[in-house]
Amino acid sequence: MKVPICEECLENEGELCEECKEKQEEGEFSEIALEVSRFLYSLSGQIPTLQDVELKKIEKATDAIIVVTAKGDGPRVVGKNGEVVKQLAEEFEKSIRVVEDSGEPEEVIRNLLEPVEVASINTVYKPEGKEKKVVVSEEDERRVPISEEEFKDIVEDLTGETFSLSFE
Ligand SMILES: [Zn+2]
Repeated sequence: MKVPICEECLENEGELCEECKEKQEEGEFSEIALEVSRFLYSLSGQIPTLQDVELKKIEKATDAIIVVTAKGDGPRVVGKNGEVVKQLAEEFEKSIRVVEDSGEPEEVIRNLLEPVEVASINTVYKPEGKEKKVVVSEEDERRVPISEEEFKDIVEDLTGETFSLSFE
């Protein structure tokens, strides 16, 4: 597994080694990233497809954990019939969203909101400039486990573009 945490620290639940501790202090990975990486590492014995995946970032949102993988690694983190994601959701008692770091805004947005569908993506002209707005049906609002602010931050972080989320 490709993560900024060494194999020894993934394997052992205890305190981090000096090198990993330093990386954590510098913000290379969060506490939730450590917990999720350790859990996935523990699964990789039974699920060998997890062994080669690269995890770029793991973040906590309101009611979800967002796992950002390298491009192409998404399906392996989701698992066959979603088995990996199901186990993660049970362990951490949150929804799991797997997002590939593809740099493609529409793909990132779709991954983040899945299984909720995007109704449209519009460009809105405001006095401050133009803004892109992702519209999701009002009826789906309770099925989206991240806040509008978190959505905006994550998309901006992964694509460099600003998209707001709106339920209409
Ligand atoms: Zn370490």
